[in-house]
Amino acid sequence: MEKKTVEILGVPFYRTTQQQFVEELLQKAENREKKFVVTANPEIVMSAMKNAQFKETILQADYITADGIGIILAAEKLGLPLNERVTGFDTMIGILEHANQKKLKIFFLGAKPEVSQALRLVLEESYPQLQVVGCRHGYFSDGESEQIVQEIQECEPDFIFVALGSPAQENWIASHYQSFSKGVFMGVGGSFDILSGTAKRAPKIMIKMRLEWLYRIVTNPTRWRRFLALPQFLRVVNRERKRKESVNK
Ligand code: UDP
Repeated sequence: MEKKTVEILGVPFYRTTQQQFVEELLQKAENREKKFVVTANPEIVMSAMKNAQFKETILQADYITADGIGIILAAEKLGLPLNERVTGFDTMIGILEHANQKKLKIFFLGAKPEVSQALRLVLEESYPQLQVVGCRHGYFSDGESEQIVQEIQECEPDFIFVALGSPAQENWIASHYQSFSKGVFMGVGGSFDILSGTAKRAPKIMIKMRLEWLYRIVTNPTRWRRFLALPQFLRVVNRERKRKESVNK
């Protein structure tokens, strides 16, 4: 784990801004380094609290960033300095823009077959210089993983975006990470659905007003369960704050 972190319920979050983080990852890729990035929301922190094995998995990451307003609110409550959200989606887009100019190699793993196909076309159109060395859907068996690993090894991508949803994407990266000698690996959840145009992101004004969660519930009601986790998460954070205050008295 790199330094410059603040800890929220046992998870060390990297203190950076969205722009700085993109620049830092590009630098790592240019140096042919290998990195594992987790962008964590409250649900991931809660899963890590409940599941020691999953916690161990995400603690293997070189960077854990604050994906979600809940993490920023938690940091505020705990009096910890976290600058802003650093999301998987925005990090991926920032990297694609630079990678296009620099003609970097990218591998896209995950999402439904039709989304993966649509994604390839969108990438060709929006980032014509990008070297899309792989674009493979995410509905494969454990047995097929070895072949995917080999495919990635052979094309030596600078970035590997893994969109299998959490915790599958973090588990997949962690369990195959040793097989690779370079590349920045990052789980990006439902980002391919958004980038391919299959699912829409909230309007900018709603993101600015910190209301992206509302848009996501309204447009995808099956997600409401996830948002029920937020008040529970903030309650746990509050307990932690009170505990710390009583220790410091
Ligand atoms: N997915 C996949 N393989 C699977 C299950 C899911 O590739 O076996 C993809 C799914 O198609 C979607 C993404 O993983 O593109 C998960 O999106 P979701 O919005 O649920 O993830 P989150 O951002 O909430 O982690």
